[in-house]
Amino acid sequence: MSGHPSRDGWYAAGEVDCFPVPPPRERPSRLVLLGAPGAGKGTQARLLCESLRACHLSTGELFRAARDQCASSPAMRAAIEAMNRGELVPEELVIAMVRERANCLRCHGGFVLDGFPRNQTQAIALDEILAELHIAIEAVVYLELPQEELELPLEEIVARLSGRRTCVDCRAVFDLAANPPTRSGVCDYCGERLVQRTDDQPEAIRVRMKVFEAETLSLVEFYERLGKLVRISASGTPEQIRDRVLQGLDRNVSEVAT
Ligand code: ADP
Ligand code: ZN
Repeated sequence: MSGHPSRDGWYAAGEVDCFPVPPPRERPSRLVLLGAPGAGKGTQARLLCESLRACHLSTGELFRAARDQCASSPAMRAAIEAMNRGELVPEELVIAMVRERANCLRCHGGFVLDGFPRNQTQAIALDEILAELHIAIEAVVYLELPQEELELPLEEIVARLSGRRTCVDCRAVFDLAANPPTRSGVCDYCGERLVQRTDDQPEAIRVRMKVFEAETLSLVEFYERLGKLVRISASGTPEQIRDRVLQGLDRNVSEVAT
């Protein structure tokens, strides 16, 4: 992801600038990604950000980064424990974290928000934050698993997510079965180490699926009613899905790649 903003502003809550500072764009993309665990949100966020030259803003990554830096505040330690179990971290903490990062939402490079909002309270909070910044979301992209995958036994979904590996540095996502790295354990993009997420263990995956159905799925209807929802079938290769999203957003690759 060379030449791509470093997202330091997102990780350090605005205390440092990103490098390079994203150039102003005529039509910055401001997107929210929704999808069940395993729908490929992380991969799509990365591909879309490359095409749209926007920043991938993931709340899950913030918690993983805090865990890796051995964050010591009691609130953050409790959040990391909830994350490891597959549960949502407390509302006030996530909302405060996003609020502290208003600069990333306001940024002229645009963004793809991944993992926030995850329920109605968070959706309302996001709306308030954006209204204060005088900006609006372009669309909420819902990566919808095809029916045959929805009907898969939970055990199969669990088995699949257990094969996921993430780069410790650039956070690219690989799948040992469907999209393995060229060299085992090594990131194709930056050469760093690949690791398994602690919440990609069977029990935490089961909890994450339940939480998605109980809390996040209702946002599909919420954003549909607001006329913001773009439903995209999450079947096919990551590139096919990305192109489907760009088409659904009425943006073509030649417009965004310049
Ligand atoms: P997934 O691949 O399951 O969508 P994410 O990387 O988005 O995972 O998030 C990982 C974990 O981080 C979640 O299971 C949850 O514990 C925590 N988390 C991330 N975003 C939020 C949020 N908006 N609200 C509450 N918890 C969150
Ligand atoms: Zn990497």
